[in-house]
Amino acid sequence: MDYGLTEQQREIVELARQIAQKKIKPVREHYDKTEEFPWPIVEEIAKADLFAVYLPEECGGLGGGTLELALVAEELSKACGGIALSVATSALCAIPILLYGTPQQRKRWLSELASGKRLGAFTITEPGAGSDATATKAAARLDGDHYVLNGIKNFCSTGSAAELYTVFASTNPNRGARGISAFVVEKGTPGFTFGKKEEKMGIRANSTYELVFENCRIPKENLLYKEGYGLFVAQDTFDCSRPGVAAQALGIAQGALDETLAYIRMRKQFGQSISSFQAIQHMMADCATSIEAGRALLYSTCRAMDRELKPAVDKAIQEGTTVFEAMEKLGSRRWTKESGMCKVFCSDTAMRVTTDCVQMCGGIGYMRDFPVEKYMRDAKITQIYEGTNQIQRNEIAMMMIKEAASKSRKELVSA
Ligand SMILES: Cc1cc2nc3c(=O)[nH]c(=O)nc-3n(C[C@H](O)[C@H](O)[C@H](O)COP(=O)(O)OP(=O)(O)OC[C@H]3O[C@@H](n4cnc5c(N)ncnc54)[C@H](O)[C@@H]3O)c2cc1C
Repeated sequence: MDYGLTEQQREIVELARQIAQKKIKPVREHYDKTEEFPWPIVEEIAKADLFAVYLPEECGGLGGGTLELALVAEELSKACGGIALSVATSALCAIPILLYGTPQQRKRWLSELASGKRLGAFTITEPGAGSDATATKAAARLDGDHYVLNGIKNFCSTGSAAELYTVFASTNPNRGARGISAFVVEKGTPGFTFGKKEEKMGIRANSTYELVFENCRIPKENLLYKEGYGLFVAQDTFDCSRPGVAAQALGIAQGALDETLAYIRMRKQFGQSISSFQAIQHMMADCATSIEAGRALLYSTCRAMDRELKPAVDKAIQEGTTVFEAMEKLGSRRWTKESGMCKVFCSDTAMRVTTDCVQMCGGIGYMRDFPVEKYMRDAKITQIYEGTNQIQRNEIAMMMIKEAASKSRKELVSA
């Protein structure tokens, strides 16, 4: 399908495709087996400027938006969803700084993340606060020019490999959800160490760590926006980043389907290729149709978001404000419903398609030395992180109810 990508977007896809096919494919099995962090590939991705595609030019970016980020995540994930995650987690660290950072914070940290010389991570989850981020226990107390941070975060992707972390902690436990604030914490800050490294089912080329903060003193200037805005920061970040998870899921699904097609055209049983059986053909058709439907939803959502986000970024740069303030002034809308729809649809598609791909390949599909089972293991996480698909469905329904209530209020007023 021709999605009318611009010349620059097509170049980005081509660059990511070259890295995926030539650099990632030959080594993905190694990183999956060893769970080593794929530094040589990360360097290739940085050299190709793919960490910069969605960031504004003022911070060393290429001036794109959520669509450019999705294109990179999708293309890299066709070869390995775990390696692609390094780009996605850096974006997850960068987006809150982009939306809620002051011009000084944007310049300081985003240019480093755009270069790929320093990787970013985002850490909101705690042992007792998963789907319910309002249960955050990590606490940050103001002491002179510093906040003193104490607490445990877990399941942090790109943990230990990253150097910049967006961290959420309560600055006022009496205010519950309204007491949570967002900070940027640099690796090497005294009191910030790494705990357990997780062993995972999939995305094993990305390291997942527990983070430990013990009397960790963070400069006051590392607070993002104002105290108490943490959950707004997190929600607005997820609105922009969930299409990236959807793109990762679509890449995984497409990668699995491509490998499967190549195999089932060659493999013969009953004197015929497997791809000639109608039962198999219907599975192939269903897989391809779902992937294409997901891609259409994803690209159109990204385009609609970027039409609002980019003018807000330009206004914030001109006026020296945060992007969030510029969005408020421009009356930008929330994208929770649509970004959640992308994540739900594309990740459910990835899980179904990769499972069907294993089925179409038969026994070899189940084996570790054939690439298809890895796609199935990698697909599963896309239904879980950045808000499980149950939570996405809750949020989509909540937004539908709010929209219906506001529509009927307007009808009452105009009647
Ligand atoms: C590999 C991996 C990488 C991760 N990376 C990061 C990261 O980089 N940064 C970060 O902050 N976090 C990260 N996470 C955490 C991830 O976002 C959480 O695991 C996820 O949000 C779910 O939280 P939980 O695991 O505590 O599940 P729980 O909240 O305990 O949920 C368990 C089950 O109950 C369901 N459930 C919970 N509440 C409801 C409800 N209200 N309605 C219906 N169903 C509900 C859930 O959908 C799920 O099926 C990562 C997790 C994994 C596994």
